[in-house]
Amino acid sequence: MGFSQAQINDWQIRYPILNDVMDLKPVFWTNPRLKKVEDLSDLQLSRKDIEEAEARWKRFAPFLATVFPETKATDGIIESPLKEMSRLQASVFPKVSGNFYVKCDHKLPIAGSIKARGGIYEVLKHAETLAMEAGMLQENDHYAVLAEDRFREFFSRYSIGVGSTGNLGLSIGIINAKLGFQVNVYMSADAKQWKKDLLRENGAQVLEFSGDFGEAITAGRKKTNADPNGYFVDDEDSRDLFLGYSVAALRLRKQLQEKNITVDADHPLFVYLPCGVGGSPGGITFGLKMVFGDHVHCFFAEPVHSPSVLIGLVTGKMDEISVQDLGIDNRTEADGLAVGRPSRFATAISDQLVSGIYTMKDDALYRLLAAMADREGMFLEPSATAGLAGPQRAFPYINNHISTSNQTTHIAWATGGALVPAKDMEMFYNKGKSLE
Ligand SMILES: *Cc1c(COP(=O)(O)O)cnc(C)c1O
Repeated sequence: MGFSQAQINDWQIRYPILNDVMDLKPVFWTNPRLKKVEDLSDLQLSRKDIEEAEARWKRFAPFLATVFPETKATDGIIESPLKEMSRLQASVFPKVSGNFYVKCDHKLPIAGSIKARGGIYEVLKHAETLAMEAGMLQENDHYAVLAEDRFREFFSRYSIGVGSTGNLGLSIGIINAKLGFQVNVYMSADAKQWKKDLLRENGAQVLEFSGDFGEAITAGRKKTNADPNGYFVDDEDSRDLFLGYSVAALRLRKQLQEKNITVDADHPLFVYLPCGVGGSPGGITFGLKMVFGDHVHCFFAEPVHSPSVLIGLVTGKMDEISVQDLGIDNRTEADGLAVGRPSRFATAISDQLVSGIYTMKDDALYRLLAAMADREGMFLEPSATAGLAGPQRAFPYINNHISTSNQTTHIAWATGGALVPAKDMEMFYNKGKSLE
């Protein structure tokens, strides 16, 4: 698409934060269009959609428990623990008050990343739709039947395509190994080798592109849609990915109740979410706002080299603008966040719901990775650490917006890491240590 220099200059004058963004300096942006929940308009989604998504997860639980033994203990529900992080807080953010928790989505079963919420959900929903249309499945069936060979044979007539920097493709490839679609994953140049290898082991076809995520997704969409039996999981514009993620809010509410953590006007909740295309942080923010209303404040975290959702929201151009349009290169070690253009579906909603966005340098991500390993014994991939900086980065905002007598709870969403091979994790860790 591209924008004229005059247009870009005009934005720089109107939105001075763009000067630092274009100079690759870390910024903290406060959303001027944040709305109160009662004033939200045209969201295209409601609380009911989240409940329907949760009901679908429940229908599939017997299937998941059958084919993924690691989900047996939770009866086929894919969920992660919520853990207190006092040691990291004491050593890294001593000034920040309140309770500090990490949502351990790096431990999510099956996919080892937050994509286990969105990617798996969309594939299951698609499988359900096809099987129902063919008269092979009904809503009150015991879904463990989906593990039978006749379903594999049926699904093998259909294909699924997805463009991915890595984790979305992985989540889809791994779930699909138990369903039997033909899966084609269109991967960007920055996708890690081990992710491609693991996908191929799971029977997916991996198509590599020399360009970035945007190019991989455009090519994948075109090829998949040319196949009458093809279905494209479109990370740039997907309602189902978004709803899959949103269910996390219902689960988190329960976990907070179990820990006797109150969320209300005197006990605000702050949530910090690593952000790529904006689907996972947007979906979770939407869910949390439906559950906790204005008492929850959500912030997204992006790399300074890939601030796609930030520039979409600052300029108001949403998915029409890419970081490359502003001369930013979209090159970051945080492969899960290496996205140049925001999701159309998610960003339109986040526009009204996200409290702010901060950006980070890769070095800071690596330092947090090493600190988490040393203090809490948790091993995250670089993308997954971006939320950990939240309490400190949002500190001035919180001081301005929240009464000091309030008891705050902070939750950093750790979004991936469990599947990273030990050798790669050691490299990440050593790099973080060398930067301390
Ligand atoms: C995909 C991903 C994100 C961000 O999700 P988006 O929907 O792309 O915004 C964050 N962390 C990790 C590890 C991811 O794989």
